[in-house]
Parts: sequence; C-alpha cells; structure tokens
Amino acid sequence: MIFRFSKKIKLPGFVIKIRFVDGRTLPKTTEGSWDYNRKKKIGTIDIRDSLTLNQKKLALAHELQHAMVDYLHCICPEEKKGD
Ligand SMILES: [Zn+2]
Repeated sequence: MIFRFSKKIKLPGFVIKIRFVDGRTLPKTTEGSWDYNRKKKIGTIDIRDSLTLNQKKLALAHELQHAMVDYLHCICPEEKKGD
C-alpha cells in the first residue's frame, strides 16, 4: 500500500496546508518550514520533496509541533488578551 500524506488538516477554526516542495522553495539546509497567517488562521507546512519517506514523516511531525503552538495561541482566550 502506498502511503499518502494529507494535503490539508482541518481543526476547528484552523487550517494546516501541507505542501511538498523542491529546493527552490526552501533554504538549502531546511527540511521543512511552518508559516502561519494569523489573520486568515491558515498555516502552511512546506516539506522538501527530495527527503526519504521517514525524513518526511519526521519533518512533518516537527512542523506540526510548531503548528500546534500557534493553534493553542489561536484558540486560547488568555493568550488573545496579551496580543
Ligand atoms: Zn522547527
């Protein structure tokens, strides 16, 4: 069975897009990146497409941690006050 990564993860009030990109999109030494648009509440994870499957999983797990930090900030009423 071929494993396929989700292209989008939807959480209440928060969307994570997942893209597999070539070297032109990411800086040389970067395997993945997380970019979050606070206003739109949409985040994008870019993962280098030339990585092995396991490296892609690791990069995705790492970037999802960044995503979850922003998601918590996004839904936490206490955090909003300090904005
Ligand atoms: Zn990181």
